[in-house]
Amino acid sequence: MSTCIYPGSFDPLTIGHLDIIRRASTLFDEVVVAVLHNSQKRCTYTPQQRVEFIEACVGDMPGVRAIHFEGLLVEAARQQGAEVILRGLRMEADYASEAQTAEINHRISGGLETLFLPTRPAFTCVSSSIVRELLYYGVSVAGLVPGAILDRVVAAYQRPAR
Ligand code: ADP
Repeated sequence: MSTCIYPGSFDPLTIGHLDIIRRASTLFDEVVVAVLHNSQKRCTYTPQQRVEFIEACVGDMPGVRAIHFEGLLVEAARQQGAEVILRGLRMEADYASEAQTAEINHRISGGLETLFLPTRPAFTCVSSSIVRELLYYGVSVAGLVPGAILDRVVAAYQRPAR
């Protein structure tokens, strides 16, 4: 049984994330989408909401499940039985920090590998931060977040003070 863990903030899930999950589900028996709960990083949506958004979009992908975790990613990977960490790469700028994180995770886990999937060109400019920025200004995010969760993402958005 091959299992990967796909960690991130997913604040909220976008069509770029979903494309990576779908492609990973054809490569691994199990894909654990792991929503990072980091008390230092303020997210717009709660960990529970972020997990629910993912669950609402992966019903047709057997072997995909969502969890939320706090603490070290390599520990979550061990608990979930994942032998690979999966990350998506959008552009060259992502690579430098991702390679560094991958090396540290390899070192502290005693050999856990990170696999990168390049984004499809259509999703290069899609990010959770763009979605939040558009929501802040009341602009439609249709086509950036999966249609199945669009209404919920808009309804649950709370405008932060700036
Ligand atoms: P983080 O805060 O850890 O970067 P994100 O939720 O922003 O978490 O992203 C989670 C993962 O999904 C990362 O590996 C990121 O590079 C990848 N990702 C984000 N947006 C896209 C996209 N449009 N296409 C492909 N991968 C993406």
